[in-house]
Amino acid sequence: MGRVRTLPDDLVALISAGEVIERPESVVKELIENSLDASATQITVEITNGGIDSIIVSDNGHGILAEDCPICIQRHSTSKIEKKSDIEAIRTYGFRGEALGSIAAVAELRIFSRAAEEELGCGLISRPGERPSIMRVSRPQGTTVEVRDLFATVPARRKHLNTPQAEAQRVVEVVMRYATIRNDVGFTLIRDGQTVIDCPPGQSTPDRVVSLWGPAVGKMLIDVHHSDPISGVVVSGYIVKPPLTRGNRSREYLSVLKRPIEDERLSRVIETSFDTLLMRGRYPMFVLDIELDVSGVDPNVHPTKREVRFDNPEEIEEAVRQAVNRALRPSRQDVTASLDDFMVMTTEQQTQTEMRRDAPTPALKETAHWPLIERVSLTSDGAETTGVSEREMFEGNFRIIGQLNNLYILLEFDDGLVIIDQHAAHERVVYERLRRQISEGDVPVQELLEPLVVRLDPVALQRIQGLSDELRVLGFHIEPFGSGEIIVSAMPSILDRTVLETDLIPLFDEIIERGALRRGERLMDELVKVTACHSAIRAGKALTIPQIRNLLQEMAHTPDRYNCPHGRPTMVRITNTELAAMFKRI
Ligand code: ADP
Ligand code: MG
Repeated sequence: MGRVRTLPDDLVALISAGEVIERPESVVKELIENSLDASATQITVEITNGGIDSIIVSDNGHGILAEDCPICIQRHSTSKIEKKSDIEAIRTYGFRGEALGSIAAVAELRIFSRAAEEELGCGLISRPGERPSIMRVSRPQGTTVEVRDLFATVPARRKHLNTPQAEAQRVVEVVMRYATIRNDVGFTLIRDGQTVIDCPPGQSTPDRVVSLWGPAVGKMLIDVHHSDPISGVVVSGYIVKPPLTRGNRSREYLSVLKRPIEDERLSRVIETSFDTLLMRGRYPMFVLDIELDVSGVDPNVHPTKREVRFDNPEEIEEAVRQAVNRALRPSRQDVTASLDDFMVMTTEQQTQTEMRRDAPTPALKETAHWPLIERVSLTSDGAETTGVSEREMFEGNFRIIGQLNNLYILLEFDDGLVIIDQHAAHERVVYERLRRQISEGDVPVQELLEPLVVRLDPVALQRIQGLSDELRVLGFHIEPFGSGEIIVSAMPSILDRTVLETDLIPLFDEIIERGALRRGERLMDELVKVTACHSAIRAGKALTIPQIRNLLQEMAHTPDRYNCPHGRPTMVRITNTELAAMFKRI
């Protein structure tokens, strides 16, 4: 007997289900797409235990005809395409007829529906490996699909699921993505009985984005609209103005004809357009849709339809680049304008500066009681060299020259110039202080007279709640408040008293991003770093001479003052000899 055999149907179903249905998130995605294809204007998603126990998606779409009900869960059964040519112009989210069949192979599936044109609805209950039972039901127009005990009969898959908490977060992300892109449709997400997303149909994109991403982005939205005269490609949507950015690509919402896609190259084109507006390791937030002739894009290239193939990818990239560049141009001008303002100082400021310049130098000399540069030369065998170490060379008298670009503090020493990065240096000061306070179990806390109400997106909200014990140790007292909000009633005294909700959102965002990567000690240290970074004097802040002096004094009492907590240097030095060499004086 030969060794090759054709697999039985149930095994084939299980194998192909593996490609489409990976986790609760994929079920939710497929069911939302079905509801959208049925022209629903309201979609409600309900999950229990991260979607592992149950996922229920209800819509008010056109419904399923009773005679189609038994067919729709069979593999490759679809109402969306008929012939070969249909594949060349796919306008619906679904077209392969795989989703319901795949779900039925790996979970208990119940469908209840009534088509617009029928009086009585239909129902179907199916369990993996069993014949489905069919029934007639009375119900409103639309469809409800219920998926229970995902992968109960496929232990290999079940094993690969994450914690219910993590699976729930992925579901929240996928609902947010569709809800943002399809702002015409109402979306509700209920997680373990709690409503976490609730958006009415017909919201404008800005309103939708604000209700999902939080109010901080509201003021920062830039309208994008660009239509390429030659290719006819239209790029439209919104981008969030820096400095509101993220540490990953999770708020890069790209879609083609409203189909959410991932496209590494397009993402990079957009990120590159942000150019210097984006700090290293930060990613922009945007929701951008690409419109083109439907025949110019093939959605049939990826098992879960996450990627598409364009006939002319360069054309699309160019349109996207132009759209984003044009939208960002005013933001760039903002930056230049503020520089111009700086150059044309008011007469009053000028006089002050001149006075400072005229002040007699010796009167401004101060003394450093700590070595500004602590680098002891080592011989090859690791022993300290004898002779004058740099440590001694840099103690002594100095003069505060002032600030450069509101970023650096310049100090004149007898031996040369020392440049201090004000943010990095203060970050180290705050970090060490906060760490000491935590280890002593005594973080000074400021109770807020008026507690801050912070609106967070549903994902952020869940994660912040998960970190509330650690945050308490840090000095943040937070409590859930209504749906989608937390109340901050106290925060570490180290933070500026004048922080606003809009300052706390980026702080919490970063706490969530970094917090997700660590556990225990490392987690706490990461949280301290983030808090220090947000409490430290900002780059770009103008400092008075007393403020500079204060910072220098604080640095004197800070261990490891030569590097910030992230390891970047806090100061550099240029010796007189180096200067002389630069100018070819020697
Ligand atoms: P596809 O979406 O690729 O057609 P599915 O397996 O997802 O395949 O769905 C099979 C068919 O079931 C669809 O073509 C559609 O006719 C019907 N269907 C599924 N969900 C719904 C729904 N929510 N409303 C109306 N019809 C639906
Ligand atoms: Mg489908």
